[in-house]
Amino acid sequence: MIQFFNYLGFAGTILVALAYIPQVTHLLKKHCAYGISIRAWSMWVMAGFLMLPSALLSNALIFKALLIVQIILGILILVFSYFHQGKSGTCPVHKGIF
Ligand SMILES: [Zn+2]
Repeated sequence: MIQFFNYLGFAGTILVALAYIPQVTHLLKKHCAYGISIRAWSMWVMAGFLMLPSALLSNALIFKALLIVQIILGILILVFSYFHQGKSGTCPVHKGIF
């Protein structure tokens, strides 16, 4: 039964990683940071760093993987959002041209 829950946790971790893909691809391809809150994403990354020591000391591989995914992709989104904020960093769709 524990192994079943580990599989569920692993699937959830993969789902979390996949959930970042639309935002990251939009940022990288369109250089558009429309709707991204630097403050909110900073809090997500900070929360990840605060939980990381506990995760590293535990035996829960899923917890470690989830936090590492969250921190790495959160930092990626923050960095690209920072450089693509403002009108110059908005794609035609989000500018309302199309
Ligand atoms: Zn856009």
